[in-house]
Amino acid sequence: MLLYNSLTRKKEEFVPREPGKVSMYTCGPTVYHFAHIGNLRSYIMEDVLEKYLRFTGLDVKRVMNITDVGHLTSDGDTGDDKMLKGAKREHKTVMEIAKFYTDAFFADCGKLNIKTPDVVVPATTYIDEFIRVISALMEKGYAYEAGGNIYFDTGKLDKYYVFNDFKEEDLAVGVREGVEEDENKRNKADFVLWFTKSKFDDQELKWDSPWGVGYPGWHIECSCISMKNLGEYLDIHCGGIDNAFPHHTNEIAQSEAYLGHEWCNYWFHVLHLNTNSGKMSKSKGEFLTVSLLEEKGFLPVMYRFFCLQSHYRKSLVFTWENLENAKITYNKLIARIAPLTAETTGEIDSAEFDRLMNSFTSALDNDLNTALGITAVYDVLKSTANAATKLALLAEFDKVLGLDLIPNGKKAAEAPAEDDIPAEVLDLAEQRKAARKERNFALADELRDKIAALGYEIKETRQGTEIKKLS
Ligand code: AMP
Ligand code: ZN
Repeated sequence: MLLYNSLTRKKEEFVPREPGKVSMYTCGPTVYHFAHIGNLRSYIMEDVLEKYLRFTGLDVKRVMNITDVGHLTSDGDTGDDKMLKGAKREHKTVMEIAKFYTDAFFADCGKLNIKTPDVVVPATTYIDEFIRVISALMEKGYAYEAGGNIYFDTGKLDKYYVFNDFKEEDLAVGVREGVEEDENKRNKADFVLWFTKSKFDDQELKWDSPWGVGYPGWHIECSCISMKNLGEYLDIHCGGIDNAFPHHTNEIAQSEAYLGHEWCNYWFHVLHLNTNSGKMSKSKGEFLTVSLLEEKGFLPVMYRFFCLQSHYRKSLVFTWENLENAKITYNKLIARIAPLTAETTGEIDSAEFDRLMNSFTSALDNDLNTALGITAVYDVLKSTANAATKLALLAEFDKVLGLDLIPNGKKAAEAPAEDDIPAEVLDLAEQRKAARKERNFALADELRDKIAALGYEIKETRQGTEIKKLS
């Protein structure tokens, strides 16, 4: 498989270090708010990558952190802690916030058919490990204490900016707007490994350390969680493109300084989901969630379909119109699959199976071209292969695509088309929807009974309203 590697800036053959096995690390969410659909674009594309690697027969072990401490709005000893900000906003403790939004994150992932990684580690459970690695960096002379904090000394490295030829002065004072310069740093690119109470007296979560009571920086979390669970060599590291600098750059700096050798071979970065006004971000406050998509009548899997129609290395613009188009295309696709699901006889034609499978794997083998992967689904439907062959291929493709092609095809085959439902029933269903919105449940029940009297059953499911003919 060819995969673009941000480290070498080339498409390369993906060859895991140990034959047949892949160690994969993913930066997890900072759990101070719901994940927005931009974050989830990254997780969807990483999920496709993991599933495709497994599809090709590789044994993947995937690890993810949960950032429940240490992610500041700046990388020096300035800025707010994002978790603390979330706790203040909702008048809850940091741990309550972390638990709530971690659960919400995995619930959203579930709806989008994103597999949970094999190992998930909340950063607050690894404090001893962070202290151990930071102590080793101190001993090796890669870290220093200043103003009560421990910093990584980027001046000790031959090459710090690994992903790009950044001009140091452009990136010098942090990377985000409004970040003040931290006077404690020896070099402008230095970053904090451990904060102490000296600057953060209102910090809720603090731990004892050789350098005083405090808490870890964000970057050290990922290095330690990866090395502890996946060993000293990592095959592939994933994240959204904004993480390449400074987060991943810092992960590489401290991991390689600690290990004394190169650490990770392939870096997989997903480009951003943007709105018409720019990058979608939690801090801007304008963010769209999976629940909002559902409220507007989209199945979460339609958003997954929308993402898969584009290449992960191109930024993607979200508009409701674009999503509406994806919904129409998805529904048409499902409508074509529906009649196949009723045909249960026939044998798989292996020549056709191999030919069509080949068009799918060639697409995915070429730097995870999911748009062409979807074209391969249409090739199957257009082909003259029998239903058994088509269904077998769709089931295989969907192990990677995760679009519920066959289950939703079956549902569509069973449900009467909207055109077949009498207008009177549809009208009552609309009235019932309005009644439920106004929380007039007595009226809603009454309308349900009227619908039943006309021979139809109405149900609210996670995916919206379902109307079925009573048998
Ligand atoms: P965070 O919860 O902020 O730590 O981010 C979780 C993941 O989402 C990281 O891999 C980010 O790089 C990624 N991410 C953040 N914003 C976007 C966006 N607009 N589009 C795609 N990925 C994003
Ligand atoms: Zn990370």
